This record gives sequence, structure tokens and C-alpha cells, in this order.
Amino acid sequence: MANDNKRFLDIIAHCKEYGFIFPSSEIYDGLSAVYDYGQWGSELKKNIKDYWWKSMTQLHENIVGIDAAIFMHPTTWKASGHVDNFSDPMIDNKDSNKRYRVDHLIEDFAAELRSKGEEDQARELIEEMERLLAANDFDSLKKLIEERKIKCAVSGTSNWTDVRQFNLMFSTQLGSISEDASEIYLRPETAQGIFVNFLNVQKTGRMKIPFGIAQVGKAFRNEIVARQFIFRMREFEQMEMQYFIRPHTQKKWYEHWKEERMKWHLSLGIEREKYRFHDHVKLAHYADAACDIEYEFPIGFKEVEGIHSRTDFDLSSHQKYSKKKMQYFDNELDENGKPYGNYIPFVIETSIGLDRMFLLIISNSYTEEDLSTAEKQDSRVVLKIPALIAPVKLAILPLVKKDGLPEIARGIMDKCKTYMRCFYEEKDTIGKRYRRMDAIGTPFCVTIDHQTKEDNTVTVRYRDTMQQERIAIHNILAVVEKQIR
Ligand code: ATP
Repeated sequence: MANDNKRFLDIIAHCKEYGFIFPSSEIYDGLSAVYDYGQWGSELKKNIKDYWWKSMTQLHENIVGIDAAIFMHPTTWKASGHVDNFSDPMIDNKDSNKRYRVDHLIEDFAAELRSKGEEDQARELIEEMERLLAANDFDSLKKLIEERKIKCAVSGTSNWTDVRQFNLMFSTQLGSISEDASEIYLRPETAQGIFVNFLNVQKTGRMKIPFGIAQVGKAFRNEIVARQFIFRMREFEQMEMQYFIRPHTQKKWYEHWKEERMKWHLSLGIEREKYRFHDHVKLAHYADAACDIEYEFPIGFKEVEGIHSRTDFDLSSHQKYSKKKMQYFDNELDENGKPYGNYIPFVIETSIGLDRMFLLIISNSYTEEDLSTAEKQDSRVVLKIPALIAPVKLAILPLVKKDGLPEIARGIMDKCKTYMRCFYEEKDTIGKRYRRMDAIGTPFCVTIDHQTKEDNTVTVRYRDTMQQERIAIHNILAVVEKQIR
């Protein structure tokens, strides 16, 4: 565990040092659980987003995308249940005044038990916690924490308040004059923008059930215990897809999307053993089945994506609150030869955090390699990011800054940069430049040397194997494009 934490800290430091992620407003000491993406981070994030978007919309003919506003009519959140239910049970330590999410406090304690080899006790504790959370039995949760003598990390005491619910939505005012202003929320999930537009899209797109609507966008949650870098942020991005289906066919489609989403993860070349499904015991107010796709981060198996069978809860509730019909007319015939007619569709949702997927990709690709030989000690840090989503695809490096090599390299750069993100660099030794490209995960480097002037060939160096081969200049694009399609 200690080593894993070191790995996690190394990854965080690497992200900062190589322009992937910076703490927000760092010159003012940052803002807790808010982060900015730097020059390479924003490229990687965009590539992950594009890969998801393409796989959802372009490759599924019956799924279309939208881009809804962050602000929504406040009644949306009443109808969705977020005003009444979007809260986490919290407990405060009376000596340190530090506030904890009850499940995190108990999970951390269970992890300590596990590290001491007390696996059975840890499992029992988690099972008991999940049972009590599902029953909303806060008194017993407090008792559980006290009986197990779970202590606050700051004060070291187990002097706890009662367990209370804390709503996670951020609110703000709409309108310029304070008396006229009304309270609105920053959306805590992107899904509701899809539900309220369900009929707009269905009618204008002439969509037939089953069909899906996909969206990528910011979501905001006032996470009380914000921790673990970009794993838990207060402002983050979600990539969600709501799939509208006939009532009571949800079991089949739930299984279908579990399988589809796992395939998507594996299509990025990540091993199956790094993933697992976790079925929810405590279901959200809208769901009749739910599971997480978990990935083994350096800090343990954690949720990266949720798959939820949301029944007709959201559309029915919007119909009730808005008094507008949210029904679909299905003119296909059922097994008895009768049209299905009007109904409110059921929904299967796939919801993945873009930032968590980013952390997954970085965690999975961060590799420290010992390259020492008998003669000298050497090592490198390389991000083995799938070439398809790497921030920079191709580095173009003249061996020296003279003898006409930069001019040839510039010519190659001008041609290649219209096809893919390239990077030109002529400073420092070629070895140092290769290492810098390894550190940001650039899969291909081409080096222009004196032989290039004679035979129009360059050396292409492959990031993962560090092998090199000579290829003709006119083949560069073909070699790279083969890997990034
Ligand atoms: P958790 O249990 O970790 O709080 P959740 O079950 O509340 O997450 P969902 O509401 O299902 O999460 O949201 C879908 C996805 O959005 C999650 O799988 C996760 O990838 C992402 N996500 C949720 N909350 C955050 C956050 N605070 N920071 C970053 N990503 C988040």
C-alpha cells in the first residue's frame, strides 16, 4: 500500500511537472478539489472525450448528441429528486471540527484492517455499513463508528456528532437585483439536460425507440471530503448517455450496456484484470439496478463509470412537475399484433467521469523503467498512452541545429501538422529530447540527420520499445496513421 501511495504521489507530481494538471489558481494557494488542465492535459482530455463521443454517436446510428446548458430551471432539480435526495451522510469530529463522509471514514478504517491482515473483519464492517446506509439508519451508523473506535485523523479522538445528511448541490442567484433574484443550481449531473430535451430530440430527429442521447459537459458537486487529486473534484466533467427503451425491457438493455461499456474500456488496450464490476446494494432514488465499472487505481479499485437502470423515474417526474406530456408514440406491433401505443420510455444510463478516465489513462500508462547497463546507470519515465489518444502523436527532431537539417525538419512539420498534433524541437541532445517526449507519452519521434540529405530517409523511434528504424520521409504519415486510426 505504501508503495502504491508513492506511485500515486509520483503520478501527481509528474502531471504537474509535464504540463498535464495544475492546481486551480495556484498563485493564491489553489482551491480545494479544483484543477486546471495544462497544455498536454487539455489535449489528452479532449482526445478521450472525442474517442468516447465518436464511439457513442458516430458508431451507434441510433445515438445522437446534445450540448445542454449548465443552468436549468430550478424545478428540474425538484423533479429529479436532487433537492430532496442528493445528499451524503456526514459526521463531524467534535474535537477537530473535521467533517467526514460516513462511508469514507468507515472504508478507510476497513482498509487499515486489511493492511493488518484482518480481511474478514474488514469485509464484515463494509457489509454492515452498506446495510445501514441502504436502510438510512443513521443512529446505528454512528453506533458502528463508536463501537469500532474509529478515530479522526486530525484529533485522534472518537468524539463524534450525530450522522446528518448534507446536500451536494451548489446554488447561486439568477437575476441582477437581489430581491428579484431566484435561486438556481449548478447542475450536479448532465443527465437532466437530456431528459428535459427528450421529446425535442426525438421529434426533430425522428428517433425511434430504442435510441440514445449522449452528452459531455461540466457537473458540480460540493463534495465535503474532496481528496485524491482529480478522482474527486468539485467541478468535473461527465460523459453520459441515456438510452430510451420500451417499459420493462430494462434487464436486457442493462446487461447490453454493461457489456458494451466494458468493451469500450478494453478497446483502449487496458487489461481486463484491471477492471471489475461492482453491483450497488444501496440504490439511488431513481434506479432499479445499478453497478459501477471499477478500475484498479494505485489507491485501490475505485469507480470510474456507473451504469444505471433509471426506470421511467425521471421522465415521469418531469411530466408531473412540468405538466407537459413526456410520452412517446410507438406504432410498432407487439407479439399480439397490437401497436405498443403511448408510453413513457424507461432509461438505461451510462455515466463516466471524464476526469476519472483521464486519471485512469495516466495511472495505467505511467511506467518507470530502469535502463541501466554495465557501463552506466540510467532510467526513464514513460507514459505508454494509447497512440490514438496521446496528446502529441509525432515529434519532429533535427539531430543538430545546422547543416540544413532544421529546414528539412520544418518542411516535414508543416506537412504533418495538418493531419495530427505534432511537436517540433531542436534544443538539447537527441537523448534528452526523446526522454521529454517519453514523459508526455509521444508514441513516435522522427529524427532528421545528415543521411536524410542524401537519401530522404529519417529515423523513426518507437516510444514503448525504444526501437528505431529508417523510413522514407514520404512514409512517415502512413507509419503513424496506421497506429492512430
Ligand atoms: P462516487 O460514489 O465516487 O461519489 P457517484 O456514484 O456519486 O460517485 P455518479 O453520480 O454515478 O457518481 O456519477 C457518474 C460518474 O461521474 C462517476 O462514475 C465518476 O466517474 C464521475 N464523478 C462523480 N463525482 C465525481 C467527482 N466529484 N469528481 C470527479 N468525477 C466524479
